[in-house]
Amino acid sequence: MGLLKFLGRGSAFNSKEGNTSAFLKKDDYLLLIDCGEDIFDRVIKAKFLEGVDKVNVLITHLHPDHVGSLGTLIFYCFYIMKIKVNIFYEDVKALEQLLSLQGADKSQYNLDCCSKIIGLDKVGVEFIEAFKTEHVPNFKSFGYKLNMIDGKKIIYFGDTNDLPSNVVDMLKLDNNIEVYIDTCLADYPNSAHLSMKKLCEKAPHEIRGNIYCMHYDSESLIEEIRLNGFNIVENII
Ligand SMILES: [Zn+2]
Ligand SMILES: [Zn+2]
Repeated sequence: MGLLKFLGRGSAFNSKEGNTSAFLKKDDYLLLIDCGEDIFDRVIKAKFLEGVDKVNVLITHLHPDHVGSLGTLIFYCFYIMKIKVNIFYEDVKALEQLLSLQGADKSQYNLDCCSKIIGLDKVGVEFIEAFKTEHVPNFKSFGYKLNMIDGKKIIYFGDTNDLPSNVVDMLKLDNNIEVYIDTCLADYPNSAHLSMKKLCEKAPHEIRGNIYCMHYDSESLIEEIRLNGFNIVENII
């Protein structure tokens, strides 16, 4: 089992598995990564916010399967829980504009870049760094490196169509890294997502035990992930 747990592990059209959203949670502190269209529904059904009063949401990019229910989460926290959600995204202006068009006023949430997250030690994280990922040309997409207090590292790609060679090299040298990466069965030129075929070409067998595939587009992909020596992630609900 990897360090991250998941509320959803599916791609945009995979309503069974839910939108991909990982989290770390301890006591009253939540660090959620992305809040796609069906994540608010899953949060409520799982009574996920009971006992939580520090809600931090790290956003990878602005596709609906990653931010689709963020506005509703802001309103729920503000009006029902009487707290402000802390949101972190590297292109602050773009997300502020999106939320503004949805009627969320800046007084109802906090928004900053990931270096400003406070209280991370509560979930075992020392600090978080952002990096750009190759996804779509319309807007910037980010992944995040979570440096854990115990020396472990999580490299979380949001949606991406590549496993960069520098990350492969890091995995060869350091067994304490867990990589979480968008993987799909569909394989075609200029895809916005990383196909299993391309991932197998990029990742030698010796590092596959440290790679966790997510953002599944089909049932049969899950079997392919296991057969090829990578890890699957599990939904908590
Ligand atoms: Zn996307
Ligand atoms: Zn996506």
